[in-house]
Amino acid sequence: MNRQKIVAGNWKMNTTLAQANELVTKIVSHACGFNQVKAIIFPPFPFITEVKKMIGDEKTISVGAQNCHTHSSGAYTGEVSAGMLHSVGCQYVLIGHSERRNYFKEKNSDLVLKIKEVLANKLQPILCVGETFEERKAENHFKVIIEQLTSVLSQFSITEFSQFIIAYEPVWAIGTGETASNEQAQEIHAFIRSIITDIYDSAIANNISILYGGSCNAQNAKELFQCPDIDGGLIGGASLKADDFCQIIGSF
Ligand code: PEP
Repeated sequence: MNRQKIVAGNWKMNTTLAQANELVTKIVSHACGFNQVKAIIFPPFPFITEVKKMIGDEKTISVGAQNCHTHSSGAYTGEVSAGMLHSVGCQYVLIGHSERRNYFKEKNSDLVLKIKEVLANKLQPILCVGETFEERKAENHFKVIIEQLTSVLSQFSITEFSQFIIAYEPVWAIGTGETASNEQAQEIHAFIRSIITDIYDSAIANNISILYGGSCNAQNAKELFQCPDIDGGLIGGASLKADDFCQIIGSF
């Protein structure tokens, strides 16, 4: 089993161009220590081209987008298509982040359309799933994860699914400083792999990278990344500090 280890930094709606420049310059200067880990930076849309230029030939770092539209072009003022993202050198797109599900009311059916666009433009989707605090308290977390995954995965063939990366992000852990315990995270990651086995097969389930997200930081990354089914992290707040982000990448 040789799954790609990944640490992805979701900058959300943060940084100016100057701050983006400073952050990426520092990250690139540490890249020789990234070993077998792929780092992916998700800057805000306006900085993607510039961040891509700053990364230059550094192969261990890629650029992704935080979202894309369900359509390829047309009268959708303010939106960005997967084709546009591909044309500026993006390789990944975050799909279904809990902030998009919550604030922008994205439904699983929207995510399917977005992923179709992502794949049609030769990009890779990072599909985010995760339960809210109330859902966990009511012990509905397994049910929520099954629903979120099956409603999307049922629309994709095994060949299409081979391009996916999954991120398990318990909503109660995002930006709260309350990380899932290693046991909680490992339990859901193994569960996600079992769902993938049921939908497709065990070979692909064992090959897909599953990232943990939710208050993952330089202090707790090492323990989380030692769990057998955790292949890296999707990092919010801590990805805005170059030293912390690089330390997380060095935590395997
Ligand atoms: C996220 O938004 O994907 C995330 C994991 O945020 P944070 O690390 O700040 O909890």
